[in-house]
Amino acid sequence: MSRTPGETDAATDPDAGPLPFRPVVPDEQWRDWRWHMRKRVTNAEKARQWIRLSPDEEEAIVKAAGKYRWSITPYYASLMDPDDPECPVRRQAVPAMGELAEFSGAEVDPVGDMFYRKTNRVVHKYPDRVIMLVTEACPVYCRHCTRKFHTTDVDGTYFRDDEGGSYDEDLRYIAEHPEIRDVLLTGGDPLSYQDGKLEEIVSALRAIPSVEIIRIGSRFPVLLPQRITDGLCEMLARYHPVWLNTHFNHPKEITEESAAAVDRLLRHGIPVGNQTVLLRGINDDVATMRRLMTELLRVRVRPYYLYHCDNVTGVSHFMTSVEKGWEIMEGLQGHITGFGVPQYVLTTRIGKIPIARPSYSETPDGLLLRNHRGQEMVVDSSVHPIRESDLR
Ligand SMILES: *Cc1c(COP(=O)(O)O)cnc(C)c1O
Ligand code: SF4
Repeated sequence: MSRTPGETDAATDPDAGPLPFRPVVPDEQWRDWRWHMRKRVTNAEKARQWIRLSPDEEEAIVKAAGKYRWSITPYYASLMDPDDPECPVRRQAVPAMGELAEFSGAEVDPVGDMFYRKTNRVVHKYPDRVIMLVTEACPVYCRHCTRKFHTTDVDGTYFRDDEGGSYDEDLRYIAEHPEIRDVLLTGGDPLSYQDGKLEEIVSALRAIPSVEIIRIGSRFPVLLPQRITDGLCEMLARYHPVWLNTHFNHPKEITEESAAAVDRLLRHGIPVGNQTVLLRGINDDVATMRRLMTELLRVRVRPYYLYHCDNVTGVSHFMTSVEKGWEIMEGLQGHITGFGVPQYVLTTRIGKIPIARPSYSETPDGLLLRNHRGQEMVVDSSVHPIRESDLR
């Protein structure tokens, strides 16, 4: 049996229409993540099997070559609207001329990760937790990646030394700092590695008694959910507690396949959270964001962060105002359940800082509260004292 990828898309989108020029892939290959990795779209010719490239995209593919890496899995390509360059999946994956524009204030590393780098792979910015860079490789190179220059610069400036070197120094650093109780494997995408190589890293971390939790940051559930095999989940489950955060940005990315990948992780006891980036023209409106968060809950993914888009070189065209973020947060809070509301944060040199507007202010009579409908009330300070000194 074989099918045309994108069929499920057409079933849910009456406007999608038939896609006669798309490749027909046998199910067996479609389910095999290694097949998708081998068949990734890396040039205009391959892209034309999936979409009708716009002149802007054609030009950007040529001009971004050699500057920013580019690759799309057939699975993710199958989610793209073939005719609409504004398709939210397409804008995240296909180069656009906006990437090559210059923006004031844009930097390669605006959040100062390199300042906090302690070893080749360990970035220690917060007291009790570190990130450990595993690889520069990703199945798809997202156009909005906050590490765009590092993960997509062909010369690679990401690791202090190189990616392939020994882990001894990194593991020693973590072991010698017992205050580190939480290690987040990131990159790039750590699940780009084969299970065996990944297990060497995870098991070495688990052997350090002070490491309590291991976290993985991976966009595979979105970009190539077939990677989340039972074998991978069983391996990770041997090193619990393991948590995974992924990166859905648009409801269109929540498919049967991605929901099944999340289900496999959850069945193996791996909680799945989501970090969304607020992106201009992709998800910067209340309706889309509300649908994203409620769809995530439906597939049992817990919204964690909503990142304000960093002013990263090559990414600035995706930035919104902070006010837009406030509008979206106020369109979520109270409108959907509290655990569907992510924390809106700005990542800076001094950490990730929550920047949602408070729904209260202080008055001489007590707290002034505002709800999701804009209704206000004051709770008397004799009922809810604000100051310690006002406590009876
Ligand atoms: C984001 C980040 C972490 C993890 O932060 P949480 O708020 O715990 O998810 C850790 N270290 C660095 C350097 C980070 O950027
Ligand atoms: S998967 Fe994550 S690290 Fe990789 S390019 Fe996309 S946003 Fe960047």
